Amino acid sequence: MSKYWSPIVSTLKPYVPGEQPRMANLVKLNTNENPYAPSEKVIEAIRGAASADLRLYPDPLALDLRQAIAARYSVAAEQVFVGNGSDEVLAHAFAALLKHDEPLLYPDISYSFYPTYAGLFGIDAIEVPLDAAFRIDVTDYRRPAGAIILPNPNAPTGIGLPLAEIEALVADHPDQPVVIDEAYIDFGGESAAALVPKYDNLLVVQTFSKSRALAGLRVGFAIGQRPLIEGLERVKDSFNSYPLGRAAQAGATAAIKDEAWLEATCRKIVASRAKLTAELEARGFEVLPSQANFIFARHPKHAGGILAAKLRERAVIVRHFAKPRIADFLRITIGTDAECARLVAALDEIL
Ligand code: PMP
Repeated sequence: MSKYWSPIVSTLKPYVPGEQPRMANLVKLNTNENPYAPSEKVIEAIRGAASADLRLYPDPLALDLRQAIAARYSVAAEQVFVGNGSDEVLAHAFAALLKHDEPLLYPDISYSFYPTYAGLFGIDAIEVPLDAAFRIDVTDYRRPAGAIILPNPNAPTGIGLPLAEIEALVADHPDQPVVIDEAYIDFGGESAAALVPKYDNLLVVQTFSKSRALAGLRVGFAIGQRPLIEGLERVKDSFNSYPLGRAAQAGATAAIKDEAWLEATCRKIVASRAKLTAELEARGFEVLPSQANFIFARHPKHAGGILAAKLRERAVIVRHFAKPRIADFLRITIGTDAECARLVAALDEIL
């Protein structure tokens, strides 16, 4: 607390990211990064951007990147917004689209940046409980609301919603923005981007951090009809008129065009997910059905916090959340098969 802070800063509960420890021989399965190097085409594009042109400001419209994203999702470039990671895109969406006199709805077990943004922008929130199977029941969102935000698949559960249920939710709330946070969609979900031409209240947010292995580049985007996208642009241009630096624009443009790399990488991760799920189930874990690049698992005899601590002693880092209903769970990022084997070997010592 400082006398120099504004009143809102005194009340903020900032998001705490998963740690980035520097330890030798570490198996890092705590922040849902991709275990594989990004496409070589991305590295080449970034090398190309590392030139004397860095003295020049980047394209404030990021047009090449927005056109490439638009082409992949069969929308127009003006229906695409880009930012520094989907966290920034989401922050602009909270600032631009959410009303202060009507509550925002999101799941009670979900991405913990949502309550942080709600606090930052002074937005009332209602946390809608997941059902007994840790699923989002879209019928629970049939209540007066200013806006809705859902991750699909949800995090940290990994459970996805079928597109028909997302569509029902969007159709049910024609006067409210519905934001679908698709950070993990490429690992088995069905993107709602295809619904954008049909619904002017739908905003789909995605990231290059997970399936495209570019967490370090910080690029995310949103797809929506003009009024929603224009709202985001108004906030961005009141804040920083350059959405992304030259390296990020070049790298992300190459990434979105490399469909073959994306497919091959996601296929490997999905196969490793199935394998790790079976290994954990064989050791007595309950593993929620995941469509993401992580699994959420609990053991009937071992508390999550203790397991996480014992894994850490063996240089395997996973994520544990203290929230009561999920305190028994571990969220484990899918690593390479070798990393997953290290995790399983560590568990065999512990269990
Ligand atoms: N949404 C969800 C559900 C996430 O888990 C994350 C990653 N922590 C993000 C958005 C943000 O990712 P990024 O800012 O790297 O795009």
